[in-house]
Amino acid sequence: MFVTEVQQAASVQCTMCLKPFKSRSNLLYHIKNEHGEQRGPFNCMHCGHIMKNRNSLRVHIYQYHKEKKPQTISYY
Ligand SMILES: [Zn+2]
Ligand SMILES: [Zn+2]
Repeated sequence: MFVTEVQQAASVQCTMCLKPFKSRSNLLYHIKNEHGEQRGPFNCMHCGHIMKNRNSLRVHIYQYHKEKKPQTISYY
């Protein structure tokens, strides 16, 4: 039920990076994607390391666990 969402044009601001947004939903989308605050801390599935946002976690997994895409491991 977003009734008065579009009523006030302009001026919502991200409290973390001070970026301006046209609507509140845009801001929430930004916060969720850029800062990851909506979902809380992200835990690494491999070692339990806690990261502040999803992107940091992705970098961590890639750097520490070398897992970007599933690959077939061949032992020979
Ligand atoms: Zn921001
Ligand atoms: Zn890890």
